[in-house]
Amino acid sequence: GDSLPRPGQTRVIVVANQKGGVGKTTTTVNLAASLALHGGRVLVIDLDPQGNASTALGIDHHAEVPSIYDVLIESKPLAEVVQPVLDVEGLFCAPATIDLAGAEIELVSLVARESRLQRAIQSYEQPLDYILIDCPPSLGLLTVNALVAGQEVLIPIQCEYYALEGLGQLLRNVDLVRGHLNPALHVSTILLTMYDGRTRLASQVAEEVRSHFGDEVLRTSIPRSVRISEAPSYGQTVLTYDPGSSGALSYLEAAREIALRGVGVRYDAQHAHFGA
Ligand code: ADP
Ligand code: MG
Repeated sequence: GDSLPRPGQTRVIVVANQKGGVGKTTTTVNLAASLALHGGRVLVIDLDPQGNASTALGIDHHAEVPSIYDVLIESKPLAEVVQPVLDVEGLFCAPATIDLAGAEIELVSLVARESRLQRAIQSYEQPLDYILIDCPPSLGLLTVNALVAGQEVLIPIQCEYYALEGLGQLLRNVDLVRGHLNPALHVSTILLTMYDGRTRLASQVAEEVRSHFGDEVLRTSIPRSVRISEAPSYGQTVLTYDPGSSGALSYLEAAREIALRGVGVRYDAQHAHFGA
């Protein structure tokens, strides 16, 4: 793809929403692939015990593979668990294995339990433009570790009836972490996912989200697309599975918008609405 301005320092973006099924994992892997295709060096950290991001990137994550669990619990260097994503140059993944399901409990009794991921990232010496962290659908210590490690929070919102319900709790947690542990943390980006502009409900919810969050909402929204949902079962992002699809183009455009915002360049939405 064409290249975009790269950030001066690594942007660590936490993809969070404690509701399941809103598109966190899909957004993490497809945005990460898009940023890499635009010329960036990008690391995905899979922080969900389900390991869906690892699967979607075609990364081996059976129980014996060195994983983010070892980093968080055994203090293994991040560099020792990172694997390259084979079909996208510049894209890497720190996988999650099923062990991670126990980490939420095991972390409780460890020293610096909230900042173990932050330390691991700070000691990682390979140059990176972006780190995207895929969070589990909860606000426990795994998500807290992500919030302490990041500067930015990206919240995917599915345009359905109860879209904003429960977000208050996430926003309060962001405030708490900012106040106590990580002054740089802020909600930088809201992304509307599985958007179908033909339905009245979706456009009403989109309007509500835009009036609530304003400029944080990306102009680009992600359409509902079968190609997006098929790609993970081939261990691929939609960017390689079907590069010309509306889903692929929408994630490339969202990545462009995020990259330009990061360097303070105004984004002109030419293609912000796909398909719909
Ligand atoms: P989360 O990580 O928040 O639980 P996922 O990213 O796993 O959510 O998405 C939930 C389901 O919705 C998955 O089956 C995924 O393939 C599907 N999905 C996500 N985004 C889209 C989209 N834009 N179009 C169609 N299906 C989607
Ligand atoms: Mg997920």
